[in-house]
Formats: sequence, C-alpha cells, structure tokens
Amino acid sequence: MGKPKAIVIGAGVGGLSSAAKMAQSGGFEVSVFERMSFAGGRFTQHDHDGYQIPTGAVHMIPHGKKGPFADLILGSKAKGGLDLGRHGVDFLPTSHFACRLSDGKYQTAKSAYGILPWFSAKDALNLPSLLAKGAKRPWGDETVDGRTFLERRFSDDFIDFLDAFSNFAVSLRFDQMPASTVVRMLQNSFWSDRPHVPKGGCKGVIDGLRADLRENGARVKLSHEVTEILPGSAEESTKEHRFCVGVRRRGRDEASWVGADAIVHNGGHPNLLKALSDDFEVAEGVREQVRDTQAVGGIGFCFALDDDIPVRSSGVTMLPSLERVGGFVIPTFSDPSLAPEGKHLMVTHQFVPDAAVKSEIDKGREDLYEAIPWLADHGEELCVHTYHRNWPCNRAPQGAELPMDVGIEGIRCVGDGVKGHGWMMVEGIASNVPHAVSQVSDSMLG
Ligand SMILES: Cc1cc2nc3c(=O)[nH]c(=O)nc-3n(C[C@H](O)[C@H](O)[C@H](O)COP(=O)(O)OP(=O)(O)OC[C@H]3O[C@@H](n4cnc5c(N)ncnc54)[C@H](O)[C@@H]3O)c2cc1C
Repeated sequence: MGKPKAIVIGAGVGGLSSAAKMAQSGGFEVSVFERMSFAGGRFTQHDHDGYQIPTGAVHMIPHGKKGPFADLILGSKAKGGLDLGRHGVDFLPTSHFACRLSDGKYQTAKSAYGILPWFSAKDALNLPSLLAKGAKRPWGDETVDGRTFLERRFSDDFIDFLDAFSNFAVSLRFDQMPASTVVRMLQNSFWSDRPHVPKGGCKGVIDGLRADLRENGARVKLSHEVTEILPGSAEESTKEHRFCVGVRRRGRDEASWVGADAIVHNGGHPNLLKALSDDFEVAEGVREQVRDTQAVGGIGFCFALDDDIPVRSSGVTMLPSLERVGGFVIPTFSDPSLAPEGKHLMVTHQFVPDAAVKSEIDKGREDLYEAIPWLADHGEELCVHTYHRNWPCNRAPQGAELPMDVGIEGIRCVGDGVKGHGWMMVEGIASNVPHAVSQVSDSMLG
C-alpha cells in the first residue's frame, strides 16, 4: 500500500496552499487538477507588454506581514506556516497605510491612526470603543447592517471613507453586510500591518507555491477538469480508495478515473455539488444555502501611467465621493517590476449595483476621469475586466460565508466561499486552509 492519495480540485491560492501543506507533511500523495491552462486562479497575472495585468487580485495582501495570509505563506513550519521565503516569496510594504482623494485633494496616512486628523473629533473619540467591541464571532440573529450600526457613532464623512474601502476590498457596501462582519473587518484592518504587495505580484506567491509542491513531489495538472465524484467502488481501478474522481483533459471527450482518499475542493460549492453523484448525502440545508448564495461581482480597470503623475504612493487610495468606484492602487510604487521601466500600473475597483454591466463600465470610467484630475494627461486605459458568475470577486458575500464541510467525510472546501469571520480576501482564505487540511488529513489517517 502506498501513501493515502489526496486530490485538490482547483489551483487557486486556496487549493495550492492546501496542497502545499499536505505535501510538506510527507504523509500523502498529492495531485492538483486545474481546468484552466494556468495556475493561480484569480490570484495571478498575465503579462501584457510588460504590465502585469491581474486575473483578479489587485496585487494587495490586505494585512501585510501580520495577517493569516503571511502566517500561512511566510510563517515558519514550526508555527504551521509554509515558509515560502525559501523560494523567494516576499511581501513588500505599501508606501502608506491608506490614502484619500476627495474633491481633487490628495491625503496620505502612514499608519491606521494617521487617517484620524482627516475627520471630526467625534470619530477619533468613538474609534477606541469600536476597536474594543467583542466581534470575534457573528452576533447571532443580526438585524442591523454595518452602515446603520456605524451611523450611531461616526460622521458620514468617516463612514463614507471606510465604505469606499469596503467597496474596493470586498465589492460590497456596509449596508449589504451584517454589523458584526463590518466591525470585525475594521478591527482586523486597524490592528494589522499596512497592506503589502507580493514581490513579483500575485504570481510571485503562486510560483513559490508551485516550487514548493515540486520540491515535495506533488503534481499540478493544468487543463484538467474534474467532472464527477463517485464512491471509490464505482470503478475497478479505484476500488481501494474512498473516491473515484472523473477527470477530463482539455480537448478530450473521455474522462479518466482517478482514485482519491480525500478531496480538497477549491472550485466553489456549486461546482462541488454538481460533481457529486447521488451516492453522497449532502448535509441538510447546505444545498439551499448554496443555491441562495450569490457570488459578488465587480469591475476593474487597468491603466498605464507615465512617471510624471503627481501621486507617488502605492497605498490604497479611497475615492469616497464616487457612486461606483471604491478606489485605486498603484502597486508599482512598491514593486516597479509590475510595469515596464519608467511606467506605472494603476488598478481600480468598483462594486456593481446594477446587472447592466456595460453601462456600469461606462459610468465607472466617467467617474474615474472626473475624480482623478491627472488621469487624462498621464494615463492610458489598458483594459477593463468584469468579474462575475464563475469568476467573481467573492464566491460568497463577506458575512455570508458557506460551510467548509458539506457533510461528506473526506471532502472539505477551501477558497473565498469559506472565509473566517471578518477576514477579507486572501486573509480569509488563509484563515480557513489549516482547518480544512487538518480535517482531511485526519480523515485519511484515521
Ligand atoms: C477584481 C478583484 C480584485 C481582488 N483584489 C484582491 C487583492 O488585491 N487582494 C486579495 O487578497 N484578494 C483580492 N481579491 C480576491 C482574491 O483574488 C480571491 O479571493 C482569490 O484569488 C480566490 O482564490 P480561491 O482559492 O478561492 O480560488 P480561485 O482563484 O477561484 O481558483 C479556483 C480554481 O479552481 C478551478 N476550478 C474550478 N472548478 C474546477 C474543476 N471542476 N476542475 C478543475 N479546476 C477547477 C478554477 O479554474 C480556478 O483556477 C480580488 C478579487 C477580484 C476578482
């Protein structure tokens, strides 16, 4: 008997980091199947004439070197991390904690508390009680949304700034999330490091994960889609395993069968439920929860900028006065390699309040040229991406996360449908990966 076989479905950052953790343990044979021809999912980039254009993530690690993502990616193995610094992975600090562009005026803050002079004394006075409020878990039957909760304590000016940040980060406004989620997200942001840019962009992290997987004998198979999950007994060749997994290689009609003793699913709950045969019983309520959960969409522009722009910061810049766009970032002020020499890359993000995507793009573009006084003279639009359906901003809205356990022993979900309470973006994914991996590992060993 060889080692137990673990299969990871999807080579997003959640899938690859789960695979790396299992492969580092040395106890399992690990294979990753990815339906696209590239690894990294929404956390990588494609080169466009020297500009590193994101497939999703705008090259930001929200909580820098003090969040769950840094703990997982850069942390020492003794503390449960992957120690990918060995493969050249690093996070570079943004030049500012945050910035604001409002009515043509540009402001920068070096630390979280550096933003307070921009707002009223009431905001500074009430902030400590917000940061001290118990919000490690959801507050149960919540009826109050985040905006209503904050309006009792803070000025509109302060809330609009933070709300623009929420639009930029999670593609939702405060009135679309439970109050406890908003409070915890703000606490995590104020208590953490400033955002960082992965060295070499998001792909720098993905390349590090792939190098680690290679080192530990795990395989990543690109252009291979998992189409079905059956009990191992379904096929003669897989009967020694718990699962029989149907894998279709791009360009081929026939699926081949692969045996697995555990599965980490990174492709989103709807895809998992679709692949599972009727032999498996999904926990009560999970199908309804998945059916009722809408992924969150968004729109992002990429601009090439010349080096004469008056703004010289890689801090996330909030645009609180705009209806659609939350903000922008110029990561090349932290890592110049993300654009050709002497040029900069600017990435914007806007939430989508209306399903009419084309008109939302037009309105976002208008907003940007109106709010950023130097954009017309110094910028050139490279592309605009819409994120929706199977390639969204967030598979589950922040505050409405789905369970990592759908009720099947040996299968766990990872990715941005399954984030820990109040942890946003890759911080949320990383907060869950160690639990998912430890549960599937126990199921293989037990
Ligand atoms: C516009 C935008 C900006 C963002 N900015 C940031 C940011 O700056 N910082 C940040 O931390 N986060 C950011 N995010 C969020 C972050 O990019 C995502 O949360 C994260 O990349 C999602 O990773 P994941 O592991 O959930 O999987 P995904 O990236 O969704 O990867 C899942 C993979 O599974 C594959 N797959 C699915 N089904 C199958 C199947 N049946 N067989 C084989 N393969 C399959 C898919 O092809 C995909 O490659 C942003 C997102 C967007 C869209």
